[in-house]
Amino acid sequence: MANSISIVVVGAGPAGFYAADALIKKKIACKIDLVDELPTPYGLIRSGVAPDHQTTKKIIKAFEKIALNPICRFFGNVNIGNDVSIEELKNIYDVIIISNGANSDKKLGIPGEDLEGVIGSASFVGWYNAHPKFVNINPDLSCKNVVVVGNGNVAIDIARVLVKNRDEMASSDIPEYALKAIENSMISDVHILGRRGPHEAKFTNVELREMGELQDAVSLVDPNQIPKDVGCLEDSREKRLKEKNHKTFLEFSKNKYQDADKRVNFQFWAKPVKIIGTKRVESILMEKTVLIDGNLSSTEEFFEIKCGIVIPSVGYKSTPIDDLPFDHKNNILINENGRVSEGIYVVGWMKRGPSGVISTNRPDGVLVSDHISKDFSDGGGKPGREKFIELLESKNIRYIKFDDWKLIDKAEISSAEGVAPRRKIEKIEEMLNIAYSE
Ligand code: NAP
Repeated sequence: MANSISIVVVGAGPAGFYAADALIKKKIACKIDLVDELPTPYGLIRSGVAPDHQTTKKIIKAFEKIALNPICRFFGNVNIGNDVSIEELKNIYDVIIISNGANSDKKLGIPGEDLEGVIGSASFVGWYNAHPKFVNINPDLSCKNVVVVGNGNVAIDIARVLVKNRDEMASSDIPEYALKAIENSMISDVHILGRRGPHEAKFTNVELREMGELQDAVSLVDPNQIPKDVGCLEDSREKRLKEKNHKTFLEFSKNKYQDADKRVNFQFWAKPVKIIGTKRVESILMEKTVLIDGNLSSTEEFFEIKCGIVIPSVGYKSTPIDDLPFDHKNNILINENGRVSEGIYVVGWMKRGPSGVISTNRPDGVLVSDHISKDFSDGGGKPGREKFIELLESKNIRYIKFDDWKLIDKAEISSAEGVAPRRKIEKIEEMLNIAYSE
């Protein structure tokens, strides 16, 4: 019988769990170690999906089953790159699957981006989701106007969280510090700016319609910015989706400024040119745009929006990993259908860039499990888990097992108030103390 294949998955988010799931379902004789830099598993499900979108987070139940499968083991609080190098992993494991996503922001590349009050979406979303790296960014929300640049679902999430009230967030897992900061803020207007038109926006319709169901805020759009129809499109699914958003925008266009105390202003056909301010953001300069033959063109017509915060929400990007080939233009690992080099594979946003929903990661895992079953048809030979534990212990790394995570999970759930599902622990040290308390 062939030797079991030793596999390490770097990044215990959705892509990593789907890869483990595919290997299990394929009945490949292997041991799978899921490693994450945080003590907590689930990646973007925990720290990217909006706190008021608890239904989306239910996939965690399925991921927990995978983590509890006897061939899997979770190692939290281990940073591949800082604590352990890829070279060290290569010596220990037959297979390395990279699945650590895209955790930093694409830049706008305009002057003023370094001013105080310009906060990238990865940081801002991390802040209201209690990601330990971002809990201390303390955004100054003492301004009336916030500008969110970008027309994707992350921009919508941010705008919605900024205008929802405490009651609307009651069944969410937003940390109290963020809820309080938003509640006590002066924010009355969130401006979501798109460089193209409403039909080019990447909002999904369910998310867009939610913006019409807010208790304290109304969504506005200038009817003159909405083209009369979505035009001829060959792809009938795409056409249907665009028509749904078209209809929703038409509804928003009937709303009035005075309908609510707060507003989400959708503004299209404008690209950011410069963020203005001396130390802090004071305004953003925008240039009106037009689409000519599908290409974005400038008009040399400018306007300014006064604001205290600018949140560029123009997509995430992955960070290069030492010793692995990186495509700096597309911000992904150079790969051929998920294969990086001998024994190294990649899945998720690190493979194909930051797009799609959680389940979009599933086929990446299936593909890589197919590769592994072919490439390792004679089984593996490297020591794997025991050697990895030896290495971690020799480096005094306080790694977190899945049982340890369950203690953290239990502590979070038991300290939740009212109908909230949990109160997230914000500091890694506190998580480690709970994990090591028994
Ligand atoms: P996204 O969907 O790729 O949207 C990025 C937006 O930024 C686009 O509107 C893009 O416009 C704009 N943009 C890019 N560069 C720009 C620039 N220099 N100036 C102005 N605008 C610029 O990215 P995302 O919102 O970060 O979302 C990432 C993925 O996560 C998406 O697949 C999204 O659907 C998913 N997600 C899903 C949910 C959900 O299902 N509820 C929630 C959050 C995120 P152009 O189109 O003109 O390039």
